[in-house]
Amino acid sequence: MGKQNGNGSKLSRRNFVQLSAAWAAASAVGLDPVFGTVKELYASETMKPEKWVPNICAYCGVGCGLEIGVNKDKVVAVRGMKKNPVNRGDLCLLGKNLPGMLYTKDRLLHPQVRDGKGFKKIGWDAATSQVAEKIKDTIAKHGPDSVALYVSASEYIEEYYVYNKLFKGMLGTNNVESSARLCWASGVVGLVTSFGADSPPCAVADVDLADLFVVAGYNMSSSKPVLFKRMVQARKQNKAKMIVIDPRKTDTAQRADIHLQLNPGTDLILFNAFAHVMLNEGLVNEKEVKSYANGFDELKKHVQKFTPDFASEKTGLPKEQIVEIARTMGKSQKGLFMWGQGLNQSTTGNRKANAFMNLAFLSGNIGKPGAGPLAITGQGSAMGLREVGSLPHLLPGFRLVPKDNQRAEVAKFWGVDPAKMSPNKGKPIPFLLKGLEEGKLKLLWIIHSNPAATFPNSSWARNALSKAETLIVQDAYHPTETSKYAHILLPGAQWAEKEGCLTNSERGYTIARKAVNAPGEARPDMDIVMDVARKLGFEKQFAFKNSEEVFEEYKQLTAGRPCDSRGMTYARMEKTPGIQWPVPTADHPGTPRRFLDRKFPGKDGKVMLRSHDHKDAAEMPDAEYPLNLITGLIAEQYHSRTRTGKIDKLARITPEVFMEIHPDDAKKHKTTEGAHVKVATRRGSVKARVRITDGITRGSIFLPYHFGYLSGEDQAVNSLTNNVFDEKAKQPEYKACAAKIEKA
Ligand code: SF4
Repeated sequence: MGKQNGNGSKLSRRNFVQLSAAWAAASAVGLDPVFGTVKELYASETMKPEKWVPNICAYCGVGCGLEIGVNKDKVVAVRGMKKNPVNRGDLCLLGKNLPGMLYTKDRLLHPQVRDGKGFKKIGWDAATSQVAEKIKDTIAKHGPDSVALYVSASEYIEEYYVYNKLFKGMLGTNNVESSARLCWASGVVGLVTSFGADSPPCAVADVDLADLFVVAGYNMSSSKPVLFKRMVQARKQNKAKMIVIDPRKTDTAQRADIHLQLNPGTDLILFNAFAHVMLNEGLVNEKEVKSYANGFDELKKHVQKFTPDFASEKTGLPKEQIVEIARTMGKSQKGLFMWGQGLNQSTTGNRKANAFMNLAFLSGNIGKPGAGPLAITGQGSAMGLREVGSLPHLLPGFRLVPKDNQRAEVAKFWGVDPAKMSPNKGKPIPFLLKGLEEGKLKLLWIIHSNPAATFPNSSWARNALSKAETLIVQDAYHPTETSKYAHILLPGAQWAEKEGCLTNSERGYTIARKAVNAPGEARPDMDIVMDVARKLGFEKQFAFKNSEEVFEEYKQLTAGRPCDSRGMTYARMEKTPGIQWPVPTADHPGTPRRFLDRKFPGKDGKVMLRSHDHKDAAEMPDAEYPLNLITGLIAEQYHSRTRTGKIDKLARITPEVFMEIHPDDAKKHKTTEGAHVKVATRRGSVKARVRITDGITRGSIFLPYHFGYLSGEDQAVNSLTNNVFDEKAKQPEYKACAAKIEKA
C-alpha cells in the first residue's frame, strides 16, 4: 500500500524509487539547485508584470536581491536583481519559487481566538485589545519575566526594533528570543570569543579572490546555492582549491577537490591536528601571528597531543592526508574558512567554531581581502536581528543587557527610567519552554516561527507549549504544528506583503519594498505589535507612521557602534543595494572588509587563539541504539515546510522522510533500497524510506529535518532529536544522537 504524501496522492514504493531516480536525472539535465539552467520564473501565461518592485529573498543569509513582478495586486513573477552585488541577478531554486508560498490554501486570513477545541473569528481591535490585556494582567500578577516573545530570524530590521523597544524598553523584560538560536548561536559565540565581539569580518566578494576554500560541516551547494555557484566559478578562474570536511558526501563534497569524510563529531580533533602540523612544521609566522593574536603559546602547547596519528585514529582519515591538508592551509595566502550547522549544532559548537577560526589566524588568513572566516547564516535576518538586539542578552547596536552604561544609553534614548529596564539577560528558547513546563513563564508570543516542529525532542516542546497560560501565535499560515496550541491567532503579512530592510550575513543593506497587499485581514507584523504597544499606553513611543520612520529612529542608536548605519536611508538602499556597515555618513561608501589594519575588538586589540578539548556528543551510539543519527537540510525545502512544503514542484521532489544508510549497515540491518523502516531514538520514532549510499559514514544514518507532525504523526523528525544544547550558546545538538532501525 502506498502512503498519503504531502500533495494528497498515494506514493507507492516503486514510485518512490522512480521519484528519487527522477530527481537524480533532473539534476543531470539542469534542475539542479546550483547549476540549473531551467528558468523557474513563476511567470503566468496570461498575466505579465505591470511593474517590478525591489525586494530580497525570504530565505537564507546570502540575501539575494530580487525584483517582484506584479500585475493587479498579484505577484506573477520574480527575477534576480542584477545590480545586487551578492547575487548579480542569480537566484536558486528556492528564490525562483518564492511566489508560490503566497497563494496557498492555508493562509491565516483573520484574527481568531480559541473557542472550545476550535477557533472563532474576531476583529483586529478586539484581538489586539485581548493581547494587550493578557500582557498587562500577566505582568501585574507575575512580573515582567513571566512574558516572552519568540520571533523568526527572517523579519526586518524595523520589526525587530519595535519588538525590542516594547519588550525590553517598555515592559521591562529581556525575554526577546529568536529562531537564530537553532542555526547560528554557536557560531556567533565563536565569533565573539575569537574576535572579542560579534564581528563577521569578510565579504561575499572575497570568494572571487580566494585561493583556498575550507568548508566544514556545511552543505553550501544545497543551502547557499547562489554563493556556492560563485565559489565554483571563482575556483575555475583562480585555480583555488576547495576542501570539504563533512561526514556525508553531500552535493558540496562531491564538487570539492578534496572531501575529508571524517567520523561524525570529530571536527575539533581534526582542527587541532591541523594546528599541530602547522605549528610543528614551521608553517606559522610566529612573530606575525603574535602581533595580532593572543593565546599563541597556550595553543601551541595544547595541540601537541593532537598528533596526526591520534587524529587519524579518531577521525578515520589517513594520517598523510591530515598532514597534507594542514600544509595546504599553512601555505595558503588567501584562504576562506566557511562553516555551518555541522559544527554549530552541537553541544560543543562554540569550541568547534573557535578551533576552526584558529586555522585562519595561524595561517595569516585574516585582515586582508580574500581571506578569513566567512560566516553565512541559515536565515535571512540572523545578522540584522543581532545588530538590533533581538536576542535575550542584547540591546540595539550590539549593546549588552548587563552593561549598566549601555542599558542607560538605550533607556535615555527611549525616554525610559533606566531602573525600568532589566539588567538581567532574558531566556533562550530552551529555558522559555522549560519555563512554560514549570509554570514560571505564563505568556509566550510567537511570530512566524514553528517550535513545535523545529525544536529538538519536539514531543517535549509540544507538551511545554500546551502548558502556556496564554500562547499568541502570529503567522502567515494556520494550521502549523505550533498554531494548534494557540489561544490567540494573529494573521501576519509575509514576504512581498510588507516593507522593511535587511542586512545579510556580510552586513549589507537591501530594501524590501511592499509589492502586494496581504490576503484577508493579514497585516504587517510591526503594525500589529505597535497596535498592542499603544493599547498598553505607549502611544508616544510608537507613533511611527511607517517602517522608514522606524529605521530613521533605529539608526540613531547605531551612532559610534560597530554597526553604525547613520549613512543609510531607504533611498540609498534602493539605489545601491548591498552597502555594508559600518556606514556612518551619507558619503561613506560602506565597509566591505573589516579589520584590514589587524586591529580587533578583543583584548589588546587582538584576536584570541582558543585552546579547546574534544568532547563527545551528549548521546553516543550503544548496544541498544547502535547508530548515530544526523539530521540536515535538502535543497528544495526550507525549515519546517510551512512555505516550501506547499509549492507543488518543490514538495513532490521529496514527498516523505527518507533515511540515508551505508550499504554495509543496510545489509547488517537487513533493509533494502526503497523499503520503509522505523527509525527510533529514546524520544520517539518516525517512518522513513531507505536510501542506500556510501555517501554516509558507516554507523551513521541521515534524515532531512524539514518534516513535522503535519506531514504525518510518524513523520516528525524532531521527535527523535535530543534536547541538549551547546554549553555556551544553547544551540541544540541536531547532528548527533543514538538511534536504531526496525522494520516498519
Ligand atoms: Fe534565496 Fe539563499 Fe537561494 Fe539566494 S541563495 S535565492 S538568498 S535561498
